[in-house]
Amino acid sequence: QRVNLCKIDDIIFEIISNLNDLIIRYNINLNLQITNDLPSITGDKTQFRQVFLNIIQNAIEAMTNGGTLTIKCYVNNQQIYTIIEDTGSGIPTNIKNKIFQPFFTTKYGGTGLGLSVVKQIVEQYKGQIFVKSHKNKGTSFTIILPI
Ligand code: ADP
Ligand code: MG
Repeated sequence: QRVNLCKIDDIIFEIISNLNDLIIRYNINLNLQITNDLPSITGDKTQFRQVFLNIIQNAIEAMTNGGTLTIKCYVNNQQIYTIIEDTGSGIPTNIKNKIFQPFFTTKYGGTGLGLSVVKQIVEQYKGQIFVKSHKNKGTSFTIILPI
């Protein structure tokens, strides 16, 4: 059986460079705080890419009038923590419990599938995901994956 080793930092840098045009167009400042020598994790790179792409894309879509995208990545207790923070529109309290449901979207033309896929993949790898948000201040997602 083949074992896939993935580096979350590489995946994040790849996503950021793919989204660079949008980041510039929306006037978004990037604040990357990614620890050197992050350990690899076992799993499917396409799935991990999907997780971080969906969350980073949402963060950018919440800051079409500019803001700061902060991405932190570090190890604690045999787990990799990735925190993706935006200073965008925030998530209203009354919809916070719906955002992980398939097809829930507040966007014109949105699919509402991003976060449901994220949650499913994170759980498949026995990880956890948390969200904190304040309307008009911003949102932060924390993804914890076991090494
Ligand atoms: P979509 O992006 O297609 O709407 P998602 O599942 O990715 O679907 O997100 C569901 C909803 O959660 C979004 O429509 C939005 O209302 C909310 N949301 C997710 N991330 C953010 C964020 N960073 N800032 C504000 N709202 C968010
Ligand atoms: Mg989305």
